[in-house]
Amino acid sequence: VSAEIDLITDYFRDLGVARSDVVLGIGDDAAIVRESPGCDLIMTTDSLVEGSHFLPGADPRSLGHRALVINLSDCAAMGASPCWALLSLNLPAVDHSWLQQFCAGFGALLQRSGVALIGGNLTRGPLSITVQMAGSVPAGAAVTRSGGKPGDLLCLSGSTGDAAAGRELLARPGTATADSVRSALCQRFEFPTARVALGVALRGLASACIDVSDGLWVDLERLAAASRCGAEIEHDALPLSAALQAYAPSTAMQLALCGGEDYELLFTLPQSRLAALQAHADATSTPCTVIGRLCARPGVTLRRAGSVMQFSPTTFDHFAVRN
Ligand SMILES: [Mg+2]
Repeated sequence: VSAEIDLITDYFRDLGVARSDVVLGIGDDAAIVRESPGCDLIMTTDSLVEGSHFLPGADPRSLGHRALVINLSDCAAMGASPCWALLSLNLPAVDHSWLQQFCAGFGALLQRSGVALIGGNLTRGPLSITVQMAGSVPAGAAVTRSGGKPGDLLCLSGSTGDAAAGRELLARPGTATADSVRSALCQRFEFPTARVALGVALRGLASACIDVSDGLWVDLERLAAASRCGAEIEHDALPLSAALQAYAPSTAMQLALCGGEDYELLFTLPQSRLAALQAHADATSTPCTVIGRLCARPGVTLRRAGSVMQFSPTTFDHFAVRN
């Protein structure tokens, strides 16, 4: 078994980028990193568990990608640059083909994100993947959920709902839909984008930020509550992808508001900073849409043409099979 464990360490050793702030990486009892003076450390951790976050037999390359995205997205939501990651894998058995593909997905995104993998651990057990990540932000510059003010504009990167639709399609492969629609939506679930550069750009720009992991509606409720205000979403301003509208014309809005696992950034800013946001969005080709605003009255409402729409948020069971 210990030879296998050593082999695992070999899988992980060269996966991430070499960073000058890593004093000692994988191979000792613990890693040593050197913080930049004048910076705050942002720490986060998140897991993927078989049965809860993915189906048995899920593409290991996608699992490697997603295990990192869920943590990169949390860093981005704080305005932090991601720096270092630790990986803890529970595997039912050492499966080299699985590990190679997992590492391909995990490693490619580590490289693209400039993150060093400074520790890895393997335990035998039901399949689950936990990543711990640390990021860096100039002292005091982190963006939190709690800085929003009534009147601030509510903005969303990209669009939501596609990941939930992709998750449905993977769970029910018999569902009839065009191949191009299926692949676009499954891609958004299996290989989501973490908005790392946007997160960094939101320092000094956004008054509050959260990443959309559980669903736009519920995550907005969290941001609004933390900022001690309410929020209004403009129904007609909410971006829906062409693929989502093609897949589910009647439930696209429900999926966009409640689907989850999009890893887009939902943030607020005063109107006076909108031009600066637009300049960043244009320069980096990051779509950002104003979808509403914060208000003094607590709670989240959906509005259309000046009046409140009745809307009941649903929670989507990740892998429910509906007849
Ligand atoms: Mg989060």
